[in-house]
Order: sequence, then structure tokens, then C-alpha cells
Amino acid sequence: MNSLVIGSLAFNLYLVGRKSLSCCLWRCGHEVTRPVAVEGAEIGDAIVIRIQDITVTSLATASGNGNFMDGRFVGDPYVAGKCPQCGTLYPATHLDGIGQTAVRCNNCGADVTPFNFTNGYIIFFDPNHLVGVTLPREAAETIARNAKAYTKLPDNSIQIPILAFSPHDLVGLVARLRPYPSSEVVQISMLPQKTV
Ligand SMILES: [Zn+2]
Repeated sequence: MNSLVIGSLAFNLYLVGRKSLSCCLWRCGHEVTRPVAVEGAEIGDAIVIRIQDITVTSLATASGNGNFMDGRFVGDPYVAGKCPQCGTLYPATHLDGIGQTAVRCNNCGADVTPFNFTNGYIIFFDPNHLVGVTLPREAAETIARNAKAYTKLPDNSIQIPILAFSPHDLVGLVARLRPYPSSEVVQISMLPQKTV
């Protein structure tokens, strides 16, 4: 069980979270799990969280080098998107096809993604999630057209999977799959918080 230490108190709590592996194109750069309330915690208390296991469920994911799109965000492109055409802040979006211009503003239909790939790839995993291979255009586009299913998004997810961008600049590279607690897992914040 995970061990949590709150101030002078210590107790055990077992948490199971499910989130997608990929990046997302929503109000934040990475979709998060639900908040967890810790009864009795005081402002400034510390929490120790030990991650015991990570199970990858996505069938494929995408990554690469990114490029921020001027005029499509205010300050931080990961959290403050802005439609370059109608000016809506945090615009609700939908997909219109696949590719790097497919994320559109619900209000006016403009391409609103705040960042895109300068060079990217989709990597598809074997059934045991031990290795993956980066895909050519036709296979990448097949996956992009069914991005939510290949990402295995959690039921309540509202993100647009990055697979929809269909990047395919790096083809035929085989790599091992080694889950690790990157920013996808450890983006943990506390509310209310206290400056220390
Ligand atoms: Zn718009």
C-alpha cells in the first residue's frame, strides 16, 4: 500500500488512478486525475506518495519536437489557449479530420492548436507492451482516425489524443517500452497551497 504522511500523522492509502499516456490538447498540457481530498491535512503539510506500479494500456502513442504557435495562447501555451480568429480564451474544440490542423474552435471553426510538431512520430506497441515501432504515414493515419480507441482513453476523458496529429517523420525505429513516472504521473499539486 502507498504510505502517506500528513504532518505528524502517518497512515496508508491505496489509490488507483487511470489516465492516458499521450499528451493532450486541452486546457492543460496533460490531463489529470480527479482531486483526492486528505481529511485532516493542514496547509503546509507534506505528502509522500510511492508509486508501486504503472500499467500501460495505450496501444500506441505519439511524441516529437514541438513548436508553439504565436497568437494562439496567452502566456503559457499549455494552459491558456486562445483562438487566433474569434479570440475565445480556452476555446472548446473538436476534431475535423486528422493532422496538425484538425483541432478546431467550436465557436468559429479555426485551427486552434497552440503547438504542433516540427518532427514527430507515432510508436505502436506489441501486445505485451515490451517494444514499439514507429510507423509510416499510412499506418499513422489509420491510427489517427481512431485515436481515442488506440489511446484507450479513460471513460470520462475529454482530451483530444495527440495520435490525431498523425506524425510520421521517424519511421521503422524499434524501441523498448519502459514506463516511468514522468510528468504524466507526478503532476501533483496541493490546494490550498502555502509558499515555503
Ligand atoms: Zn474561434
